[in-house]
Amino acid sequence: MNYHSTRDTSLRRTASQAILQGISEEGGLFVPQEIPRVDLASLQGLDYCALAAKLLGLYLTDYSEEFLLRAARQAYGPQRFEGAAAKTVKLEPGLYSLELWHGPTSAFKDYALQLMPLLLVEAKRINRDNSKTAILVATSGDTGKAALEGYKDLPGIEIAVFYPAHGTSETQRLQMATQEGENVHVFAVEGNFDDAQTGVKRVFTDAAFAAECAAQGKHLTSANSINWGRLAPQIVYYFASYLELVRQGELQLGDALDFCVPTGNFGDILAGYYARRMGLPVRRLLCASNKNNVLTDFGASGVYDADRPFYKTASPSMDILVSSNLERLLYHESGDADLIAQLMDALAENKKYQVPRSLGQRIAESFAFGCTGEERCFAEIAATWEKDHYLADPHTAVALSVARAEADGKTPCVVLSTANPYKFSGAVLGALGGRAQQDDFADLAALEQLTGTVAPAPLRALREKPVRFEATIRPEGIPAAARAL
Ligand SMILES: *Cc1c(COP(=O)(O)O)cnc(C)c1O
Repeated sequence: MNYHSTRDTSLRRTASQAILQGISEEGGLFVPQEIPRVDLASLQGLDYCALAAKLLGLYLTDYSEEFLLRAARQAYGPQRFEGAAAKTVKLEPGLYSLELWHGPTSAFKDYALQLMPLLLVEAKRINRDNSKTAILVATSGDTGKAALEGYKDLPGIEIAVFYPAHGTSETQRLQMATQEGENVHVFAVEGNFDDAQTGVKRVFTDAAFAAECAAQGKHLTSANSINWGRLAPQIVYYFASYLELVRQGELQLGDALDFCVPTGNFGDILAGYYARRMGLPVRRLLCASNKNNVLTDFGASGVYDADRPFYKTASPSMDILVSSNLERLLYHESGDADLIAQLMDALAENKKYQVPRSLGQRIAESFAFGCTGEERCFAEIAATWEKDHYLADPHTAVALSVARAEADGKTPCVVLSTANPYKFSGAVLGALGGRAQQDDFADLAALEQLTGTVAPAPLRALREKPVRFEATIRPEGIPAAARAL
């Protein structure tokens, strides 16, 4: 299976080349040339790792089957995922939660970032690339920690993470500042997330810097979600969740269901779209947004308009105005790379584009779009706790609220639960009527006491872990930090 760019179908790559390169040279994203179909019945009975190896093998055709199975066992084995990869629990008749936070950092990004580093190291081997890889990550929280855990101590790789000094929760900051590993570097950057991101982007686009790296045999890359190697692993849990519901007797093989996904960069929900095209009986994918509802407006009007106010919310991983992976959906539904290039040019120039009506109609056949403001999100946390005795983090609560609004009373719905509620103890505690203290450890303890639930061990242990990284740098210092890798 080969890949080409969403903006130029003549640019072809193998899977491992697409993963090494990340983004196509003219700015497009790599997409598979065709989407394979699978026979659902043939997947029954496989454990999560075997399922992952089988499904990924359809896309990553220049990786060996043995490698994929070994990598999946290393990434998703019981020691990393508590034996609970893609655990699906019933909240009410017809409403389920797919818990994607049993990995090492308590957020769903572990599914991509536990496996993707292994795919990258193998891609270097397949392509006889002996360069050193330097990974730069600007993060507002979850991605940085998940990337550090995934890349730590891998041969031939150095990783530096830059986070806004006052832009993350205390828990998120400590998760990164206490990171173990010999090849990891963590910096707080004075300013907000945009300052960190702009500083990192400047390094990536600096031609002199690139020449310097090339001379040293060093290859600079990022760990963000437009890399195919981050997207593909997320297809697996849609299948795993469906098959688990069949196994539990909640569904008959072939029954349709909906998935509702709390969405930011459109990567997670796009993986569901691939699963649907591969033959998983998904009726609709529900795209849930918070107050930053640019996607909801797009679904209603066909106009993608990023020229609007940005809101900071209690679900920060969904606070995004440009959802990069939407580009892949537009390509797959139109098959027209010239159109995509035009739309993305318009986005870069005017922060806005409009899709042809026929394309909007095609998207509406597989997607529905909804959004939830802060008040309703907090009310949903409280209601779900009261009614279902289930604790949801704010991202999950946004999706639950949209799922309830879109329910047709017939089609079951699986909500993707993307973060453990204890990653956001203060917000969840406040939603349940407790008094948040502006101190994450106090809030965590209060939430445990109020609900009788237990926080994940790695989050509880953070208080005792030695802080390894205390440096705060100015955005101008990012190139020097990158140079030192
Ligand atoms: C990253 C993230 C999301 C959004 O996922 P996308 O793939 O960017 O749409 C939702 N919830 C949580 C907790 C996340 O970390």
